[in-house]
Amino acid sequence: LFISLEGPDGSGKSTAAQTIVANLTELTTKPILLTREPGGSVISEQIRQVILDVDNTQMDARTEALLYAAQRRQHLVDVILPALKEGQIVISDRYVDSSIAYQGAGRQLGTQAIAQINQFATRGFLPQLTLYFDIPVEVGLARIKQHRVEPEDRLEQEKLAFHQRVQQQYQQLLLENPQRMKRIDAQQSPAQVAAEGL
Ligand code: C5P
Repeated sequence: LFISLEGPDGSGKSTAAQTIVANLTELTTKPILLTREPGGSVISEQIRQVILDVDNTQMDARTEALLYAAQRRQHLVDVILPALKEGQIVISDRYVDSSIAYQGAGRQLGTQAIAQINQFATRGFLPQLTLYFDIPVEVGLARIKQHRVEPEDRLEQEKLAFHQRVQQQYQQLLLENPQRMKRIDAQQSPAQVAAEGL
């Protein structure tokens, strides 16, 4: 079973992931692997460093999109597929939908183009279930300001309009993939959020 977690910045999905894993452990004897993007394997983590380097303001949006697809490929081959083959439950914090939302809509590269490079990277391998942590943009961003130490230029860089495009695209993906994607109201308490995720 392959599950991905998706949502805008500040949706609390990474925190919820820990609780979901703990809750799942009570219910199944299968090993559970929690992994994340960008990163998740040695080479993917190296690519992550390049993508998330806050001093790197020179990166072209298409370069970034290709690097995300590249780290995803390596993450899939090194970590996700072998674990699934062993019968583990794999939960990935972000996957293809993040690229469609962030690079396709946020960076305005076009969702079709991003879907295509990700189709190439993953050979169309998608999770059976995607939990989408839904939160209004303003609420999510306010949470980040409180809890995360983000460099100023990063917040400057990632403007409200960018995050609104990301959010809208996630809503669109939710409409287009009702079978695969499940919406979770991320404004609830952390315990409620995790309980819904299970
Ligand atoms: O999952 P997390 O919120 O830690 O993601 C790290 C950062 O990478 C986020 O701030 C998000 O905006 C960004 N990101 C992105 N494109 C992706 C995945 C993540 O811009 N495809």
